Amino acid sequence: MSRDSRDVPAERVDVLVIGSGVAGLSVALGAAGRRVCVVTPQQLGFDGSSMLAQGGIAAAMGEDDSPGRHAGDTLAAGAGRCDPTQVARLTAAAPATVEWLAGLGCPLDRFEDGRLSLGLEAAHSRARIVHAGGDRSGALLMAALVQAIGKQESVSVRAGWRAVAPLLSASGVTGARVRARDGSLRDIHAGATVLATGGLTALFECYTGSPQADGGGHCFASEAGAALSDLEFVQFHPTAFAGAGSPSGAMPLLTEALRGAGARLRRRDGSLLFGLDDGEGGDLGPRDRVARAVHEASRSGGAFLDLRGGLAGRLAQSFPTAAALCRQQGIDPARELVPVSPAAHYHMGGITVDAAASTSVPGLYAVGEVACTGVHGANRLASNSLLEGLAFGRDLGQRLAASERLSPAVGGRFKVGAPVADMLAPDVHQRLGACLWRAVGPVRDAGGLLAGLAELEQLAFQVGDAPAAMARIRLAEVLLQAALRRTDSVGAHWRSDVNGAEAVPVLHAA
Ligand SMILES: Cc1cc2nc3c(=O)[nH]c(=O)nc-3n(C[C@H](O)[C@H](O)[C@H](O)COP(=O)(O)OP(=O)(O)OC[C@H]3O[C@@H](n4cnc5c(N)ncnc54)[C@H](O)[C@@H]3O)c2cc1C
Repeated sequence: MSRDSRDVPAERVDVLVIGSGVAGLSVALGAAGRRVCVVTPQQLGFDGSSMLAQGGIAAAMGEDDSPGRHAGDTLAAGAGRCDPTQVARLTAAAPATVEWLAGLGCPLDRFEDGRLSLGLEAAHSRARIVHAGGDRSGALLMAALVQAIGKQESVSVRAGWRAVAPLLSASGVTGARVRARDGSLRDIHAGATVLATGGLTALFECYTGSPQADGGGHCFASEAGAALSDLEFVQFHPTAFAGAGSPSGAMPLLTEALRGAGARLRRRDGSLLFGLDDGEGGDLGPRDRVARAVHEASRSGGAFLDLRGGLAGRLAQSFPTAAALCRQQGIDPARELVPVSPAAHYHMGGITVDAAASTSVPGLYAVGEVACTGVHGANRLASNSLLEGLAFGRDLGQRLAASERLSPAVGGRFKVGAPVADMLAPDVHQRLGACLWRAVGPVRDAGGLLAGLAELEQLAFQVGDAPAAMARIRLAEVLLQAALRRTDSVGAHWRSDVNGAEAVPVLHAA
């Protein structure tokens, strides 16, 4: 830990929010009125996974639905690993969160009579996915939040800035050292420091989200001494578009809602991966099961999404993102199958927080995908994560706004942690990604995990003392060790050496 703070300009705020996805912006809006500073590495509204979300926000808004039923589905998907109190809190807050969004001007999709159009996604027992612009939910939601932030005079946004290290005092975390757009360093001291940096899936070779989701927030928290939990629970989405990376290296996603609307999964020979009535939801079964089936198929010839039939005709209107992707890739969805592969999509684990979003270190909070609240257990129910970032983020912001103990303690002695959340060098990123995909991808076993740990040790030796690289390697090691220790298969964590070969779903002729 460095003590050197000479020549680094400093400023003070009440609340420092690190990250500008749904979680960070919801905290900032909730805390408006206090001096809030949001730091974010790119242009506001154009980084993070939130803007990529397609399906929508889960909320019990239908006449045949209730928060209790939504909670039941969430607990079932989480495979016995959820915190029921947190789940009840989240699902109860969902309808009011949707009303809040509508009040901010988010153009939610509705029928002509004004009722919300609710979609159905995997493992939901009711149609309860609130969406906007068809499959452009994340982009429209973010646009509404960004517009609302623009109206708050007490919220300043530093776009192009990245938090690199925690500022630490005897009383806990007191802010962050940040790297500004021009490369210079600043210290931002704060009464409350909120990590809203998203997940760690971009550390995997195949991933669907934002390249910024590279575990930097987790490393920042660890450097400050905060606890992490449930790291082995990584969700793999079954249908990333295979064979075409976006410029960032992330794989474009084909939303689950396509399968909700009738798309089917097939092998290269045209046979169906799942029967319609296989007793476990077929193509819309639990994400982990579908991802493993697609993983298996893609390793033996390829897996494909079949959008032909009636769906192709209404693709442009109902799923404009999927339609545009097919167009860009020269695929005619009315005639051709779309190649898919699983990809790391969401992290259920993260920085351990309590119901107040407090980490184990005073002054440091975590919210959104970077946090482990216990809501998602071993497997997240689709469309519960935007909801979590919005509902718990806003709640944290409101509590910070009301807090009387928010006095930025500046002037006293403080230390600067190592710059562990800085950018990761591309070559290290690539090697780390390949290692993680092999060792802790959709299917794991002890041999692969031990080989992965040996590979990480070698990589650590090669990177020497580069703090950002070392911190990510250590984070990956903890993830692999957690997966090695968990010898049962639960939720998204699948150990093939423990359960033996999974029953292959019945083949159905095309
Ligand atoms: C393709 C895709 C589709 C999805 N669809 C859905 C869906 O339909 N419904 C649903 O509920 N969930 C969906 N998800 C999951 C959901 O989008 C994410 O879990 C959620 O948006 C995470 O929000 P967040 O605010 O926690 O993080 P993010 O939106 O990822 O934002 C993190 C922010 O932190 C910033 N950041 C990172 N490191 C630093 C640093 N060191 N300093 C400063 N800032 C930093 C990032 O740049 C970014 O601004 C989807 C995910 C993907 C990838």
